[in-house]
Amino acid sequence: MQTTFTPEQLADPHVAESESILRKCVHCGFCTATCPTYVTLGNELDSPRGRIYLIKDMLENGRPADEEVVTHIDRCLSCLACMTTCPSGVNYMHLVDHARVHIEETYRRPLKDRLVRGVLAAVLPYPSRFRLSLRVARLGRPFAGLMKKVPFLKTFGVMLDLAPTEIAAPSEASKPGVRPANAEKRGRVAILTGCAQPVLKPGINEATIRLLTRLGVEVVVPEGEGCCGALVHHMGREEQALASARRNVDVWTKAIETGGLDAIIITASGCGTTIKDYGHMLRLDPDYAEKAARVSALAKDITEYLAGLDLPRQEPKNLSVAYHSACSMQHGQKITMAPKLLLKNAGFVVRDPAEGHLCCGSAGTYNILQPEISATLKARKVKNIEATKADVIATGNIGCITQIATGTAIPILHTIELLDWAYGGDKPAGIS
Ligand code: SF4
Ligand code: SF4
Repeated sequence: MQTTFTPEQLADPHVAESESILRKCVHCGFCTATCPTYVTLGNELDSPRGRIYLIKDMLENGRPADEEVVTHIDRCLSCLACMTTCPSGVNYMHLVDHARVHIEETYRRPLKDRLVRGVLAAVLPYPSRFRLSLRVARLGRPFAGLMKKVPFLKTFGVMLDLAPTEIAAPSEASKPGVRPANAEKRGRVAILTGCAQPVLKPGINEATIRLLTRLGVEVVVPEGEGCCGALVHHMGREEQALASARRNVDVWTKAIETGGLDAIIITASGCGTTIKDYGHMLRLDPDYAEKAARVSALAKDITEYLAGLDLPRQEPKNLSVAYHSACSMQHGQKITMAPKLLLKNAGFVVRDPAEGHLCCGSAGTYNILQPEISATLKARKVKNIEATKADVIATGNIGCITQIATGTAIPILHTIELLDWAYGGDKPAGIS
């Protein structure tokens, strides 16, 4: 694609990067076929190619974002299916990240949107605030239906609907400290405990620590780590995202330099995609660029790490598992085979739902900010999963777990919960 940025514009490294991404696009449109919003809405402007044109036009002309650009960029799930499909290697992720920052800096959203986004950014990344908000949501739940009928309160009603009815107590797994290996030691890792996941489903990190220590891996929960920054990063709140990244880079650098780390383990693939991008996000910060690149190189999804441990094959279990590959797993991190091979090796019968490349509509805060498109995608995903007639669903991202669980009676677990069970742990609750 030809571009006409001026030398002055290209002096900005963010613009220069976007220009080099734009130049790779050859307008072929292959990406439209796998884009969930194009497949759902059928509008070119809701396809990757259409969004690329909108972003190009906005950046090239140095214009502030307008309502049209914001509408179509907001509808993008950042699922990155387009990057998997694109034959030209267009890095849509970094392009749309830049566009979102530009929108945040140049566009004044309506009051309701500012309020909703402000609440999400102030609550979700902080486990104690999130836990408190879920308690409050429980009280407000009976009014959700009413609120959804009032335009100004509709999104708050959607939030109440999504809040779980039960809230688990804070887990020991989130407490800083070292969990020693329970077998001959073969590794030392840090684990990201995360922000929303330990509140919504603390059993995921508990199963991870149990399994790793049982396999001889020492697990460190470093003091001071927190949200990876993905939630605010996808809202274009770059300073807040970079502050989260710097804090985690500092914490993990200290852990690397004190006891050494073989890996930084992440159990939510949405977070993994962002942490693997820290090196890029902080590339212009001379104090952090090198440290962030080191952290990104050590970041591994739990299934990626387990795949390197050569786990023994287990007896077949009479249980079929529909494996839902989160977008951040398959498109963001390109991890496609490891989780399924681990499950098969562990004795489960693995089934692939049709249209596995399409997003379930969770996408961070997307199911709150774009509830109609999200609901359509969820229904499509659930239909494909239920067609497998599997006994249980497994996936590697908390957002997908909460999204899909609200659409089906089939139990849904994190992959690690099944693996922990197969390798000596207790049977996860909810499986008959
Ligand atoms: S990230 Fe997903 S929703 Fe956004 S343009 Fe690409 S395929 Fe479409
Ligand atoms: S597939 Fe790649 S090169 Fe083709 S239109 Fe989409 S982004 Fe551009």
